Amino acid sequence: MTRASKIAFFIGLLYLNIPFSSAFCSIDILSIRWWTAPDYTRVVIDTSERAQYEAKDSNRKLTIDFKNTAFPATIPHQYILNKPAVKKIFLCPLPGDKVRVELWLSKNVKVKIFTLQRVLNKPHRVVIDVRLPEIEKKESQERKQVQISEKKKIIVIDPGHGGEDPGAIGRRGTKEKNVVLKIAKDLRDILINRGYQAFLTRKGDYYVSFKKRLKIAKEYGANLFISLHTDAYRSRGARGSSVYCLSTRGASSEAARLLARNENLSDVIAGVPNGQNNGESDPITLNMLQTETYNLSKSVGSIVLKDLKKINHIKYSKVHEAPFRVLKLPDTPSILIEVAYISNPHEELLLRKSSYRKEVAWAIASSVQEFFPLPSSFAKGEVREVRKIKRPVFASHASTPASVPATYVVKRGDNLERIAKRHNTTIKNLQELNHLKSRNRIYAGQKLRVLPAVA
Ligand SMILES: [Zn+2]
Repeated sequence: MTRASKIAFFIGLLYLNIPFSSAFCSIDILSIRWWTAPDYTRVVIDTSERAQYEAKDSNRKLTIDFKNTAFPATIPHQYILNKPAVKKIFLCPLPGDKVRVELWLSKNVKVKIFTLQRVLNKPHRVVIDVRLPEIEKKESQERKQVQISEKKKIIVIDPGHGGEDPGAIGRRGTKEKNVVLKIAKDLRDILINRGYQAFLTRKGDYYVSFKKRLKIAKEYGANLFISLHTDAYRSRGARGSSVYCLSTRGASSEAARLLARNENLSDVIAGVPNGQNNGESDPITLNMLQTETYNLSKSVGSIVLKDLKKINHIKYSKVHEAPFRVLKLPDTPSILIEVAYISNPHEELLLRKSSYRKEVAWAIASSVQEFFPLPSSFAKGEVREVRKIKRPVFASHASTPASVPATYVVKRGDNLERIAKRHNTTIKNLQELNHLKSRNRIYAGQKLRVLPAVA
């Protein structure tokens, strides 16, 4: 192919990839996504450039006309959501290089539209929040009732990120938002079974602003607030769990400061409308943090570190401090736990395992129990029945009779991963129990010490 024909061929390919209408438009609609919380649905329209639009809201229909815009043929013309706030979304091209997006809404909703700039790997976005004020009010009232009516200790668990904000992503694609939600649900159920009142700041895959998370904790009248995250770093070797609290003196180390800076980006990545941003001007400032709250946060954090150490490597032996926005509760002991590194391939594998996540939840629940000894009502058997979380057996619990190692003879074709899976344990535990330096060095006939699987 000559140089000229190569160029012509390339231009031809380009032309084929661009829908006819968009050849004259400078902005493309890239995709439409949505997340549903109990009290709102968020629709996100990704655009190639900052969108120009006009919106009209009438008769349960929101019409947004995008100027100078096209959408590729790969994008469907209609989406059936059937969510409490949004029923359907329609797209259609209009004359004059316009695109109309129509949202069919439920009764009694409040709509807020705002744009978000490019950030990290996110494109320009038009965000439509469709709120259900009646549900919001009802949920808020229910939370306040808990505070009034119950005498048990109230633990509010905060699974970080959610929805538009995935948090850190492991090499196998594991998302922090999903892992921490699962641990949070396990922890909540274990605590309820033990006689505490435990609640989540989010129950599904949707984003909750920092401000709303704090509001939820306050409305419940939380005695303890636990924010759950997983750590990430460029180097895949970084590993271990760590615990943080808010301090009056800024960050206790440069690493803690950077971590808080990253975690504090959530509102920017997921996007919150103006006025909801819990920024520096927030009335809850570091100065208002009570010394007693700080001391209590430190002590519960130390207990959590001690218990997490039984199941995984600990990054720091002490509780570190940094200005995490989600911990700005002046009167409530509050900690943020980074459960292992999702960027570390081995720890990502652990976090993907239900048995390991449950082990983490059990460890944190034990810490809560040490910090707030069991309420007397528990002894009387007044415990609400929820999903039972069976405690997995790990090498670190060698003192319990259930975890006396058994012997397994390696068969041809075996590998550590398969053996670990079969015995409901981890490769790391097998390696530690058998002093194996490499996970690949096992041979047929070799006797391995393994922990019996959970019955
Ligand atoms: Zn996080």
